[in-house]
Amino acid sequence: METETCSPLQPGVHTLPPLPYSYNALEPVIDAKTLEIHHDKHHKKYVDDLNKAEISLAEARNRGDYTYIKYLENELAFNGSGHILHSIYWTIMTSPGTGGSPSSKVMSWINTCFGSFDKFKAQFSAATQTVEASGWGILGYNPAFCRLEILQCEKHQNLTQWGVIPILVCDVWEHAYYLKYQNLRNNYVDAWWSLVNWNEVEQRFVKAYNGELPIL
Ligand code: MN
Repeated sequence: METETCSPLQPGVHTLPPLPYSYNALEPVIDAKTLEIHHDKHHKKYVDDLNKAEISLAEARNRGDYTYIKYLENELAFNGSGHILHSIYWTIMTSPGTGGSPSSKVMSWINTCFGSFDKFKAQFSAATQTVEASGWGILGYNPAFCRLEILQCEKHQNLTQWGVIPILVCDVWEHAYYLKYQNLRNNYVDAWWSLVNWNEVEQRFVKAYNGELPIL
């Protein structure tokens, strides 16, 4: 596979991708009105609010003012995940009965990871049907384990943007610092910076950028 290159998007430049079909293309499974409101109103709001969050964060960085960091990070995650997941949702659907069947490559991965297509479908349905409140059922490729996973995504803003590959992480569970720092998490984080292995961070960034696997 050819490696594609990318450059970082500037803050606030996301746009609503057009639907790849007409509003009535998914009927009778999804009615035209639902699809129109879902795409034109709901997805549009994710895009608009993601742009606002990115611009506000850029302004916060320039001012060195992180008073509203928790709010802005939540907005970044909620709207970023909403934009990404909806963009995928539109494209993985097509008119009823016209989507064909899994290619031999996809089928072979599904068989290897889940035992059979029927088992995959049963787990995906069960997981998706039981997502608590709002969320998604997701089949994803996990580059850390080199396999497909079915995951419940409950409240997609749970402070991630789906698709992100971690390259630098700091554990702030209390078990990571409490014996020495007790409640002074800030001191632990400030001191932690002196430990970072930047060569390793670079290796991980390059692997993630190039899509090289596995990442662990
Ligand atoms: Mn939605």
